[in-house]
Amino acid sequence: RLPIVAIDGPAGAGKSTVARSVAQTLGLLYLDTGAMYRALTWLVLKSGISVDDRPGVTEIASTAQIDLRMSDDPQTGVRVWINGQECTQEIRSVEVTSNVSAIAAQKAVRDVLVQQQQQWGEKGGLVAEGRDIGTHVFPDAELKIFLTASVAERARRRRADLLASGEAELSLEKMQKDLSERDWKDSNRDIAPLQKAADAIEIQTDGLSITQVTEQIASLYWE
Ligand code: C5P
Repeated sequence: RLPIVAIDGPAGAGKSTVARSVAQTLGLLYLDTGAMYRALTWLVLKSGISVDDRPGVTEIASTAQIDLRMSDDPQTGVRVWINGQECTQEIRSVEVTSNVSAIAAQKAVRDVLVQQQQQWGEKGGLVAEGRDIGTHVFPDAELKIFLTASVAERARRRRADLLASGEAELSLEKMQKDLSERDWKDSNRDIAPLQKAADAIEIQTDGLSITQVTEQIASLYWE
């Protein structure tokens, strides 16, 4: 198979933007796995099912058809459909964001989504981004990056994203609290927690531009 680049890290470290830019630079596909967990969360909430109702969530997960397609608009990133319904904008809402960790912690959900992610990677030639890519989804990836940034920097970036997508304005303090809570949940769940793979290269992105981070990753790829 062709090479795989795995990019993991906490919320708001710039993974999506960087992964998309690396994929474009290297001519690889881009897989946003967070968008899959978000789409499922959106569908669960829309169906009026509690995120803690495990049998209900499992039933939805086992039949959900998720489609991801690259948008022509660089602002939009990836376009997302679940069971034929587009939810590109909706999955970035505060409501989905604050419920996604509860969905992503469920084994039945991860079993279904990880299998779909691995199908994407069968032939390789992709940049996959998430929390468990280097540790669980593609443990044999040729290049593993762990992207981090200080919580203050991550909150600033998330807030800018939310404002750009027309969500209500939130204070930086509240953003920091939300990010820290989500990271804690993602890092402390029993199954495939957010973790740096032993062979991942860590890049601290405070003060670095997207171009600088992309160039670093591209040069590691060609090494
Ligand atoms: O990266 P993003 O913020 O879109 O991810 C949303 C959520 O999806 C994360 O907070 C985490 O709970 C979950 N996730 C995961 N494993 C992945 C990608 C995302 O558990 N590989």
